[in-house]
Amino acid sequence: MIFKRIVQAAKDTASGASRLFQTLKNTRQKLAQGLGRLFGMKRDLDEAFLAELEEVLFGADLGMTGREVLSELRAEYGRRELKTTSEVFDRLRTKLRTRLGDPPARMVKAEQGPTVILIVGVNGSGKTTSCAKLASMLKRQDFKVMLAACDTYRAAATEQLSIWADRIGVPIVKQKEGVDPAAVAYDAAAAALATGVDYLVVDTAGRLHTREDLMAQLGKLKRILEKKIPGAPHESLLVLDATTGQNAIRQAEQFTRATPLQGVILAKLDGTARGGAVISIKERLGIPVRLVGTGEKPEDLEWFDPDRFLDALLQTES
Ligand code: GDP
Repeated sequence: MIFKRIVQAAKDTASGASRLFQTLKNTRQKLAQGLGRLFGMKRDLDEAFLAELEEVLFGADLGMTGREVLSELRAEYGRRELKTTSEVFDRLRTKLRTRLGDPPARMVKAEQGPTVILIVGVNGSGKTTSCAKLASMLKRQDFKVMLAACDTYRAAATEQLSIWADRIGVPIVKQKEGVDPAAVAYDAAAAALATGVDYLVVDTAGRLHTREDLMAQLGKLKRILEKKIPGAPHESLLVLDATTGQNAIRQAEQFTRATPLQGVILAKLDGTARGGAVISIKERLGIPVRLVGTGEKPEDLEWFDPDRFLDALLQTES
């Protein structure tokens, strides 16, 4: 009964959003077995059922959120508000949906002049690739886009971003390794204004020794950008590596303390069974997942849609 209903939802989802559905393949497979076992059979609702459900969610890296949701479900079961496993399934989905919120599925746009998007994150998270994908996405929407290579601490970072810039056909402002990132930001802001671009996507350094260093660097970059372009940066987005699951959240905490952030780009969601971490990111950090990386190609970036995400996540047929 409920099993079939879930499978039907999965089929609808598969046709509507096959990429996100495919992207979540590993996470789904991990959840599928557990959810199939729990909701696919005619089981009575009892404490044992709820304990098993908690373990299944924990296995998909829902972390503390999974625990909290289960403790709410237990209390509701205790108050006899939940009587069947089908009701538990519906309530579970509602609770997860509420926790995901309604992140805007588009980029902000300054009323006048270039819109500046600052991209932060640790090395290896997928930051450079995400800058390029975002630039590519905006270009495909017919915006004039420019990249700024402000990670001057690693020569490879500028080189890599330059290769991407050539590949997707957008201009890039860069300098040699070791130059003050703020100097690159200054040049980039000037070039963005001079050439009338719609979006300036700014890559930043990923690893600094202390949080104070990180705060100082991001603070300086922001001041320089703001001086040239009022309101800049209009959005600051944090790139997290989905394959690190709950660890990504610990990593993110450092950045949220260093600078205000408007959202997360969750890279490498295609390569992980830990997609459940998406739910705890919003809850633990108070910032929503806005975009997800679904592969290594320039077009492998999409807006995060909470409903499609849950439809893909909670189905039980792989
Ligand atoms: P950075 O050091 O944070 O700038 O990380 P990179 O952008 O260089 O990415 C690190 C590795 O992750 C590269 O091999 C990328 O191709 C890969 N990568 C980045 N985003 C994704 C994604 O969404 N899916 C997959 N499968 N790989 C990704």
